[in-house]
Amino acid sequence: MLIKSRLFTPGPTPLLPSAQLAMAAADIHHRTADFRTLYSRVLADVQTFVGTKNDVVMFASSGTGAMEASVSNLTSPGDKVLVVTAGKFGERWTQLAQAYGCNVEVVSAEYGKTVTPEQVKAKLSQDVKVVYMQATESSTGVRHDVEAIAALLKNTDTLLVVDAITGLGTTHFDVDGWGIDVIIGGSQKAVMIPPGLAYLAVSERAWKRMESAKNPRFYFDLRKERKNAAKGESSYTPAIALIAALASAMDFIRNMGKGDLAAGRVALVDNAEMCAEMMREAALALKMKLFAPDAPSAAVTSIIPPAGVDSTKIVKLFRDEFGAVISNGQGDEMKGKIFRMAHLGYFDYMDTIATVGALEQVLGIISLPKHVEFGYGLKAAQEVYARVAGSARNAKAVVSNP
Ligand SMILES: *Cc1c(COP(=O)(O)O)cnc(C)c1O
Repeated sequence: MLIKSRLFTPGPTPLLPSAQLAMAAADIHHRTADFRTLYSRVLADVQTFVGTKNDVVMFASSGTGAMEASVSNLTSPGDKVLVVTAGKFGERWTQLAQAYGCNVEVVSAEYGKTVTPEQVKAKLSQDVKVVYMQATESSTGVRHDVEAIAALLKNTDTLLVVDAITGLGTTHFDVDGWGIDVIIGGSQKAVMIPPGLAYLAVSERAWKRMESAKNPRFYFDLRKERKNAAKGESSYTPAIALIAALASAMDFIRNMGKGDLAAGRVALVDNAEMCAEMMREAALALKMKLFAPDAPSAAVTSIIPPAGVDSTKIVKLFRDEFGAVISNGQGDEMKGKIFRMAHLGYFDYMDTIATVGALEQVLGIISLPKHVEFGYGLKAAQEVYARVAGSARNAKAVVSNP
């Protein structure tokens, strides 16, 4: 049988073909007018994609580089910070802030659950300098309520830093309206290009904080990078090919919005929401349980396998039978217990239906859960599509026939 390789992981995600071509053609030098034009355009587009007026800064690094920058540039040793955590990426915030000598308070929820705004409120005090959180915790598939947590910090001196590395492109944010001081994204997620670029949008309040923050920084110096970005330059050799790819991805998203990048961002989020809902309904129809049923993200769906089945086996079957890479549970606590299917970025209806079909086959090889037949998952996914796409079609008809 012919088998195509496919990625269904929450980073890296499938590559946009036009972005791949743009990378291949990107043999330009970074101290030239050509590059300055490209970089300035990409920074402006990313600003629109994020949905903010705040300045955007970019690094040649994985997402964690921008997370580190948000600690090293905004804190001093001994600063009290609050980390909102319910999974592996939340734990990364704790480790990072501790590495920079912060006095870290943690507000947590068990894996699969979300931290409530009430929990956060109980831990807040005037001396908390920064709150660090995820928009979507990719290790469990949960979504945190960024808007409600941001509201708690309004009119305080506490900064809010959101790792939206899988949140951007899967969640609607009003970055400036809610008051998100730093929002972080990564290239290998919803923007459909390879790993190696991290970007973040930084508020005026946060720029101001950097003047007094004393932790050391060199490569990840936000202020230095902002100064150079204003001239269309980066401080060091940028990831030129990835920046060219990102320009192409921004064009693709703009086209999704019929020439309007902000509308394209909304369409991309809605697409992820639909694919995620198709997957959730399919999993339930196949008599499996969701790991994060209360506040599921649109970035990734975590599914608990049928009783007695190790998720490692499901992951392996997906790869061996269908060439599809899906994610196991992350870390010792979740490995073998859940499997994760991504919806962020370059995934469409066809991909999702095929994945649900493959999931049915994989379950069939292991042995289908009791009272489950082929087609149960597909039927549920089809019904979601018919409803979501149907109401979008009707809305468009109303607009064009006022
Ligand atoms: C992927 C991801 C990151 C960044 O990880 P890197 O490997 O450094 O790119 C951070 N937070 C979340 C929620 C992620 O999904």
